[in-house]
Amino acid sequence: MEHLVQLTDVRKEYGDTTALAGVTLDIRQGEAVAVMGPSGSGKSTLLNMVAGLDRPTSGTIVFQGEDLSTLSETALAKFRRRRIGMVFQFFNLLDDLPALENVILVAQLIGTPRKQAQARAMELFEELGIADRRNAYPAVLSGGERQRVGVARALMNRPSLLLADEPTGALDSRSGEQVMDLLQDLNQIGQTLLMVTHDEKLASRCADRVIEFADGRVTEAVR
Ligand code: ADP
Repeated sequence: MEHLVQLTDVRKEYGDTTALAGVTLDIRQGEAVAVMGPSGSGKSTLLNMVAGLDRPTSGTIVFQGEDLSTLSETALAKFRRRRIGMVFQFFNLLDDLPALENVILVAQLIGTPRKQAQARAMELFEELGIADRRNAYPAVLSGGERQRVGVARALMNRPSLLLADEPTGALDSRSGEQVMDLLQDLNQIGQTLLMVTHDEKLASRCADRVIEFADGRVTEAVR
């Protein structure tokens, strides 16, 4: 399978703190990879680097053949909006926008005409079973519904890579299961996934490969 992302000896220092101590990792197109490990081991830092939210201190990240370190800030922001979808533990929805508008917004940011964005958002809401909640504000949605809005937002611009940081971490077990099913279905239709999780069930059900992290390094490829 073709490589989607290749990290080579990626290090990240924050002052005296080494968040990543030399990570070499390849993610292939269509793969689902889970990263596990104790808090503070560098998992979120890894996601941020791959998302182009932050830059490594040294080492390279090549995404679909493009070295991210060669991109300007503007180009990096464009890369992120078009090729990365992100799902967060606490959803990160905009509270003063209804659910559907949260999702439409990210398409408008890359210049998708409103009508087209609206149609795509509705299609996703229908697929995710939240169409009837489209005009609701995040505050009145359940955790599971919020996360499905978060997933719809992440998928809106048809990302090459879906990143998820503890996507089930703030959900009750039933909503967590629904989100797991959703991630699994997405991967089965070819979506590449990189997720950080403490949830053994999520890792074992949804990941082709589980990587253990400790002290900013990959310590073990579990499977
Ligand atoms: P994890 O996601 O595994 O909990 P993180 O990637 O959040 O780990 O953090 C790894 C290490 O880097 C920790 O010691 C953390 O305190 C530090 N760190 C992460 N982000 C920053 C930052 N923006 N500034 C300073 N230190 C940071």
